[in-house]
Amino acid sequence: MKLVAESLCFKGLTVMRVTTPCANHCRFCSAGTKIVHNIPFDRYEAVVERFLNWRDHQNLVDFPIAPVQLYSLAQMPPDHLRRRFELCRRGGYEPLPLQINGLGFRPDDELRCLLIEKKEAGFKQISLTFAGPSEMHDLWCGRKGEFDFLVRIAVICGEIGFPRLEKLFLTESSWTRLPELMDFLDRISGEVIREIHTLSYVGWAKFLEKERIHESTNEALPERVRKLAKLDGLKTEREWFSIIDQGHIDQEVLNVSIMIRLQENNLEWIEETDCEEVVEELKFRRQEAWSVLPPLYRLASAYGDRNNDCLYRLSELRHLWLDRFARDSPTLADQVDCFYNSVGTVRK
Ligand code: SF4
Repeated sequence: MKLVAESLCFKGLTVMRVTTPCANHCRFCSAGTKIVHNIPFDRYEAVVERFLNWRDHQNLVDFPIAPVQLYSLAQMPPDHLRRRFELCRRGGYEPLPLQINGLGFRPDDELRCLLIEKKEAGFKQISLTFAGPSEMHDLWCGRKGEFDFLVRIAVICGEIGFPRLEKLFLTESSWTRLPELMDFLDRISGEVIREIHTLSYVGWAKFLEKERIHESTNEALPERVRKLAKLDGLKTEREWFSIIDQGHIDQEVLNVSIMIRLQENNLEWIEETDCEEVVEELKFRRQEAWSVLPPLYRLASAYGDRNNDCLYRLSELRHLWLDRFARDSPTLADQVDCFYNSVGTVRK
């Protein structure tokens, strides 16, 4: 087996703020445990601006700074939204569509005002995620009535001219029911882009491996589902083995972002420390974690399954194998955690 050379390339900085809990309890939530932190918007904005000024002063080209805010943009006042859009613009970061799943239930008139306000604040598109039709969606999202609520949102968006991005999940449980869901959604008017996604190996979805699409399911997908499915980069674990065995991944560079998760216990440090020092320290911690973790080919031979016909992206397989490695090597489990979650953001 050929040695696989892998290295990290830091491609920008993400500053994350999580302040408002979402009302759902999705089985597939990529955030996992949703811990919120009391970070006032003004201080968040000031932190992002400091890093933007630092980047510009350093003349760092091709180094986007992403002001990411999880599941609370729908509840942010318009003034904060506009200021965040300006941070995105300066950071060279394309803002995501407005994520609406998990918003607290409210009557139609309130909903309409909220959606108009968000559209006027600058959102070009709203994103609605469906785990399946009706009761299946509610079950997967841990909230009875969420499907009907999303449908009401979709209807109002059609009426006020707010374009929708509809994301449907492709799982072993849902794939036979996607045509029924698509038929239902087709009856709602308005401008729509629809995509079908598999679950990513991240957050709570890590515990849903039984829902991962098999090769045989992929082959049996109805044509209209396949057409919309984002299956690029997916191969069976068996196929990945053969690629790794043949040494075809011989110079892999992993592009990663430097991650700052703002929390009560690191905010002052981030505010008071020189930006260069913060960036170098976070890079060092991630690099250090990475350096003690086994390379891909060793992970594959120790933790992979050559016969598995489920579909993965290579990054997902690496994560899965590293989780198995962490269970076997408790002394290095923190390094796996640090690599994926940047817990090292907190100054001890
Ligand atoms: S709506 Fe989004 S943030 Fe909330 S639980 Fe579901 S996946 Fe997680």
